[in-house]
Amino acid sequence: MTSYPASPVMGQMMSQPLLISTIIDFAARHFGEVEIVSRRVEGDLHRYTYRDCQGRAKRVAHALQGLGVQIGERVATLAWNGYRHMELYYGVSGSGAVLHTINPRLHPEQIAYIVNHAEDQVLFFDLTFLPLIEVVAAHCSTVKAFVLMAGHERMPEHTSIPNLLCYEELLASSSAEYVWPQFDENAAASLCYTSGTTGNPKGALYSHRSSVLHAYASAMPNGLNVSARDTVLPVVPMFHVNAWGLPYSVLLSGAKMVFPGAALDGKSLYELFEAEGVTFSAGVPTVWLGLINHAVQNDLTFSTFRRTVIGGSACPPAMMDVLMDRFGIEVVHAWGMTEMSPLGTAGVLQAKHLSLSKDAQRKILQKQGHAIFGVDMKIVDDDGVELAWDGVTYGHLLVKGPWIIASYFKDEGGDVLQDGWFPTGDVATIDGDGYLQITDRSKDVIKSGGEWIGTIDLENIAMAHPAVLQAACIGIAHPKWDERPLLLVVKRPGFDVSREDLLAFFIGKVAKFWMPDDVSFIDALPMGATGKIQKNKLREQYRGYQLPTA
Ligand code: ADP
Repeated sequence: MTSYPASPVMGQMMSQPLLISTIIDFAARHFGEVEIVSRRVEGDLHRYTYRDCQGRAKRVAHALQGLGVQIGERVATLAWNGYRHMELYYGVSGSGAVLHTINPRLHPEQIAYIVNHAEDQVLFFDLTFLPLIEVVAAHCSTVKAFVLMAGHERMPEHTSIPNLLCYEELLASSSAEYVWPQFDENAAASLCYTSGTTGNPKGALYSHRSSVLHAYASAMPNGLNVSARDTVLPVVPMFHVNAWGLPYSVLLSGAKMVFPGAALDGKSLYELFEAEGVTFSAGVPTVWLGLINHAVQNDLTFSTFRRTVIGGSACPPAMMDVLMDRFGIEVVHAWGMTEMSPLGTAGVLQAKHLSLSKDAQRKILQKQGHAIFGVDMKIVDDDGVELAWDGVTYGHLLVKGPWIIASYFKDEGGDVLQDGWFPTGDVATIDGDGYLQITDRSKDVIKSGGEWIGTIDLENIAMAHPAVLQAACIGIAHPKWDERPLLLVVKRPGFDVSREDLLAFFIGKVAKFWMPDDVSFIDALPMGATGKIQKNKLREQYRGYQLPTA
């Protein structure tokens, strides 16, 4: 870690480390009565307050002590968004151990790999994942105890899981009298592995300092804009990139928290939004598909839902239009990545944009947004030379800032920075006002006749067609042009469109050489563990595909 020289005249302010435990202490003391409502795996709704959460988080810390977990050791979770997971967020990190959130959608072999790689000492899991733990437990050589996050009545009578403990019993036998330890704010607080589309997953190891700074910055009005007047429902999972930091930023803002548990279908989400008065939510585009479909099909409106952040993959303009125009919900398009804690940019308008036409404003909002303070970014060419911010020139996107990784856990992958900047693997433009637009992942970009074709644009156009539910564009090897675009389309149920009509839909919307060469209709697109289309699988599946000759 880089250290910096002291000044002969140092500031005379209190030196207080930025620790995650300070967030729950603040919330419990200053917003003690604010509620956390959770839809439980058990089926019912659970509600309690920030103050209750703090007490139980302290019990978790005590219990970890009892289990012999030392400062810096990793403690894993396999769990949905819920109050017990929140208690672990604070209890584990607050005690000085490292919270390792595991994505249950990963393949069991990958789960065992990361548990062993992280050397997890204890693994907490929701009832849903009991069968999964039965499968992987024998392969998790470092885990001393598995803890089922439920009451005694849910404990299985027979199990192959060694040393299986009950969460509620563990907490009941641990005191809530606990003083959070004080330590260096640069200590590790949590660990999240990337989904490893190529090679093994790599760990992003967040520090207390980086998590607290990210929480401050992301909550600000130009970011997620969370305040004590909000009721927040994070659809984005706590098992991946700390639910975009919401378990921290919501608490320091004093907003009410609503956790959806495992029920992420449109109907369940809609009912929870309405019953609890949710004003703000955040998630990847695929989850909004379900909620929007449910609301449209049943002709429903939202009575309190006012703003949502969409990111993780590109928000299709058609989705933004429905949310904004039909439901009156402000859409903030955000971009980030696991290696960035994750927030980098968020799309809100500036004063000078307010006099623009609705269409012109929408064009700005469709981009991935503006850097939030703490994140710097630049685009460079293949030789690393910085490119213009003109909204047209595209290049490799590099970032730096205090919540962006300097290296992966255990230095996997070696030195990842380029002159102190982290290469994101994204290709992007930045306009004169500082708005970022992601053209593609560099590995997904289609190289045609020496030019690049951005697949996100093509997919967005396709998804603006009423008969298209989802679209993915991939490059197919071509003898003359290197690669040409093939569009894969999932039709919206009850709608139809021909290949010819869909191709005609692109005319006038893109340069001629960007036009897809062909369309193939499929039943479903392969989705990865973080809700993204797995284009590597599609490329594999369509290798050797014969494009029509012009
Ligand atoms: P993983 O899928 O490995 O967990 P992340 O969740 O870290 O990866 O995803 C990061 C990547 O997701 C970014 O580098 C970018 O390619 C893509 N991404 C994130 N947000 C957006 C967005 N709003 N628009 C387009 N792509 C996005």
